[in-house]
Amino acid sequence: AKTPVTLLGLGAMGTALARTWLAAGHPVTVWNRTPSRATALAADGASVAATAAEAVAANTLVVVCLLDDASIDQALAGTDLTGRDLVNLTTSTPEQARARAAWAHERGARYLDGGIMAVPPMIGVPQAGGYVFYSGSRELFDRHRPTLAVPVDTRWVGEDPGHAALHDVALLSAMYGMFAGAAHAFALIRKEDIDPTALAPLLADWLTAMAPAVHQTADQLRTGDYTTNVVSNLAMQVAGTPTFLATAEQQGVSPELLTPYFDLMRRRLAEGNGNEDLTGVVDLLLR
Ligand code: NDP
Repeated sequence: AKTPVTLLGLGAMGTALARTWLAAGHPVTVWNRTPSRATALAADGASVAATAAEAVAANTLVVVCLLDDASIDQALAGTDLTGRDLVNLTTSTPEQARARAAWAHERGARYLDGGIMAVPPMIGVPQAGGYVFYSGSRELFDRHRPTLAVPVDTRWVGEDPGHAALHDVALLSAMYGMFAGAAHAFALIRKEDIDPTALAPLLADWLTAMAPAVHQTADQLRTGDYTTNVVSNLAMQVAGTPTFLATAEQQGVSPELLTPYFDLMRRRLAEGNGNEDLTGVVDLLLR
């Protein structure tokens, strides 16, 4: 028999998760603060609990997918979690996840934290490439992995309950840096007779070609030797920055997304590291 799942939270993400478990034949008990959001799922076979406490009492495996950490306190206040396997897919900070793990343990529950690297349309679509980072109780992960892998793939990142959230935020932070660079690139051509849809494939291919550079950065961070073995060392790259700033100026584009990174490159060069790659910027960010 398929493992029964209790799911708290029927927002866009929770609803997508519930649908895939139902479709795969798992008995699903759902609860949502606003009951009307459960109506369609009930028609698809979900049991709808009147209260969060009732939903938690229904099954050992309790998955939480609420808006934020504070909403977990509100939803689960006064609920008996003794003996429950709590899997928290609510986006949180590493500190919140660690505190939530301690909170669950105090209440007699086991705890697994998840960071979802997918948007709702990717749930139940394996070829979309989404997955969830998991950290916390390895025992819980091993026990429930077949169930947890039904909606979206799983990636284990360690026993520290904060590490799923940390990996989640690290990847999304890098994504925002990429979006920032793309925004600047589009701004540069915006006033010209250049079709943005012609630039887009060039941009996507270039970013894809550059992405593997993260492996070299990682290797250098591990060895502590940042000396470049490619031709574009830091001194050369800093020497090129005026071209970027002048081009922005000429195109009537604010350099505000570029200058913070250029400033860090210059600081690293000023410290006498012109023969390095860009890896030293990582150290400058550490407070
Ligand atoms: P939605 O905004 O669609 O849904 C929020 C859910 O939280 C609803 O079920 C809402 O209930 C509930 N909620 C909010 N406040 C409270 C509260 N105080 N007490 C009880 N319930 C509350 O969010 P999503 O479903 O999209 O996201 C859920 C989690 O998944 C978030 O942590 C989000 O960061 C994460 N996530 C979402 C992604 C996405 O693309 N959507 C991608 C990756 C992660 P009600 O219906 O009553 O308002």
